[in-house]
Amino acid sequence: MLLHHGVVPNTQLSRLLRVDHAWDDQQLAWHPRVDAWGQTSLAGFWIVGDGASIAGAIAAEASGRIAAFGAAHAMQRLSDHERDRLAAPELRALTRQRRIRPFLDALYRPPTWINTPADDTIVCRCEEVSAGRVREMARLGCEGPNQTKFLSRCGMGPCQGRQCGIVVSQLLAQALSRTPAEIGAYRIRAPLKPVPLSSIANLNTPAGKEPPP
Ligand SMILES: Cc1cc2nc3c(=O)[nH]c(=O)nc-3n(C[C@H](O)[C@H](O)[C@H](O)COP(=O)(O)OP(=O)(O)OC[C@H]3O[C@@H](n4cnc5c(N)ncnc54)[C@H](O)[C@@H]3O)c2cc1C
Repeated sequence: MLLHHGVVPNTQLSRLLRVDHAWDDQQLAWHPRVDAWGQTSLAGFWIVGDGASIAGAIAAEASGRIAAFGAAHAMQRLSDHERDRLAAPELRALTRQRRIRPFLDALYRPPTWINTPADDTIVCRCEEVSAGRVREMARLGCEGPNQTKFLSRCGMGPCQGRQCGIVVSQLLAQALSRTPAEIGAYRIRAPLKPVPLSSIANLNTPAGKEPPP
């Protein structure tokens, strides 16, 4: 059986591209900063749906269409007027869907113990680093998640911190009496997911040819 206390945006890709992120203190998660059209701080890179902020399936669809109109406008395929006219019903749908969020986020805010677990709880499952070890690193002068990598390999396993990142930031924030926004998050390194050498070797294999041994 699996239990969960909310879902969070997957920010691996947006962090890899070094776009601006903000800490959401209601959903206890990072999200990329986007404008009304889904445009991030990196020109030409748009994020919508759960990747931008958790708001449900219908909101994700509407935000996808809004970003498409925004992108078409940025590529000068739509005038200001056409973009705004096409996006208007989607923006209304999005606003309607988001109206419930303050209530849901307050009612279902993850409890504190979820993200600041007891010392013997393993937080980095890839490298088997416990919450107690993270707190110990904070006592030893570790100031942020990227130093936990150096001191313990925490967040350096195959998942690249996707599982433990949010918890490690919050553990350090609590131990150092700072906010997660001040503590920051892991810097992400490629590849985002483990890639077998054969996949890389086959990248340049022409169609119909055998890949190299
Ligand atoms: C258990 C659960 C229950 C839910 N119940 C509801 C509900 O009742 N009502 C509701 O409105 N919403 C619900 N949601 C939320 C809803 O599913 C999401 O809001 C919605 O799916 C978000 O759409 P999306 O397109 O942003 O992301 P997704 O639907 O997650 O789509 C992202 C896609 O990107 C793909 N992808 C990821 N990484 C890569 C990569 N590196 N390369 C290529 N592709 C990649 C994924 O495989 C996926 O297909 C629920 C979610 C969960 C987990």
